[in-house]
Amino acid sequence: MLKFKVKGSKEQMAVTYSCDCGCTPSADYRQGSGEAGHEHCCCGKVHFAGHGAVEQMEAYLTDRRQQGLDDGLEYVSTQTEVKAPWGEKVSVAYALPYVHGEPAPVVPGHEHNHDHAHSH
Ligand SMILES: [Zn+2]
Ligand SMILES: [Zn+2]
Repeated sequence: MLKFKVKGSKEQMAVTYSCDCGCTPSADYRQGSGEAGHEHCCCGKVHFAGHGAVEQMEAYLTDRRQQGLDDGLEYVSTQTEVKAPWGEKVSVAYALPYVHGEPAPVVPGHEHNHDHAHSH
């Protein structure tokens, strides 16, 4: 279970967590945008936050699988929700990668100089 933190203002929020790999991935959501933000961490965890987060994450993972990006990986997905700064309940979905039924290993000491790609 990932522990999510919410940062934000009246209109915009970022849903983050401290990942085992050392990153702090962030999914951004703007109030009323009807969209979900996401980040795919370098270690393979994915999280979405916002409108239709569950469906959008499923579509994203299906798309990756069709492109052959996730060969050998299984994702175990969970949905939860967080409270936005403006009081709305916002759905959050995340997926953890597994290889042969074991959590996918986090490569120790990997580079963190890369820029994480954001969806917006
Ligand atoms: Zn990382
Ligand atoms: Zn990570």
